[in-house]
Amino acid sequence: MKDFITKLNGPWHAWGLRIFAGIVLAHWAEHLVQAYQVYALGWPMHQARGVLGQVFPWLVHSEVLHYGYAVVMLAGIWAFLPGMVGRARTWWLVALVIQFWHHIEHALLQGQVIAGHNLFGAAVPTSILQLWFPRLELHLFYNTIVFIPMVVGMYYHLFPSEPEAERMHCSCALHMHVATT
Ligand SMILES: [Zn+2]
Repeated sequence: MKDFITKLNGPWHAWGLRIFAGIVLAHWAEHLVQAYQVYALGWPMHQARGVLGQVFPWLVHSEVLHYGYAVVMLAGIWAFLPGMVGRARTWWLVALVIQFWHHIEHALLQGQVIAGHNLFGAAVPTSILQLWFPRLELHLFYNTIVFIPMVVGMYYHLFPSEPEAERMHCSCALHMHVATT
């Protein structure tokens, strides 16, 4: 496992990050499509299931899959952290902290399904911030505020400063600053 994490943050960082970013982007896009279905197309909430959810409705209605995705996302951000240096690391940590909270919210939702009892006397499993914001908007928001620092971190990782580039052990940097003396 330690060897895997080392490789993931060295020779595999560039491809690993691309694949991970692709998965995160696809999931975020599904949340955007769902919001579009409700607000622009006026579909009833229960039928607004993004793109994959139209073909596989159980994907959207299964709490354990939402929880599973939140865990995978948290583990992914954490796994790629060691390869991040300087400003990229700062932004990546912001994404990690926000995703940690997002994951707690999903753990609460999942716990209610397992316990067969909903918090706050609600009719459906309810997370803490859901007391103030509807689930669709809340999770679109969560995925957005995790995605943005990831993109900023990725940008600094792809375009590092010279001192940052010197500390990197991966091939992610798209252009190295050539020292001009
Ligand atoms: Zn890298």
